Amino acid sequence: MFYFLIISLAIEFSFRLFIEIREIKIFSRYNPLAWARLIPIVNDFVPIPETREPISESPFVRFHEEAHSKNKHNLKRLFIKTLFALSMLYCFIYFKMNLWNFVIFFHSMLFYLQIPYHWYLWQQEISADTYAQKKTSKNKAKKELENLLKQEIPYSSLFALFYREHPPARLRLSATQKIK
Ligand SMILES: [Zn+2]
Repeated sequence: MFYFLIISLAIEFSFRLFIEIREIKIFSRYNPLAWARLIPIVNDFVPIPETREPISESPFVRFHEEAHSKNKHNLKRLFIKTLFALSMLYCFIYFKMNLWNFVIFFHSMLFYLQIPYHWYLWQQEISADTYAQKKTSKNKAKKELENLLKQEIPYSSLFALFYREHPPARLRLSATQKIK
């Protein structure tokens, strides 16, 4: 178990380092918080600033939120989180882990599983955007997401998949513009 955890931490560290370097190369901008994202466990608590200014309320935003509540997106997220917590608890008991091993194990699983989890959240966001676009118009959605694009601190899609619950505005814009 011990070696498994060490290897897992090493893989995670290299992955994060690779992503940070890639991000600096793409945007030639250094984030002062970036180094903190490399330290295991600390990185679970490093916040990612998403936009430069808060997004203002608009019909598009309201319909977007309405889609979330109509489709019970929060409930589905809660269900996944509960399932994750229960399976972690099961592993804790089944493998008879000590507390320290469990903390690292939990952290590692969180790291790997957040990738499919975020991908799933992105599908929810795109479907909420789609709903909001149908309730307003293609033009309104375009304007709204273009504004968001200006407000958003740019991150690559790969980076966002690791760290953000929302897809980059660029992706949201191209996904909604594809809708007939
Ligand atoms: Zn949303």
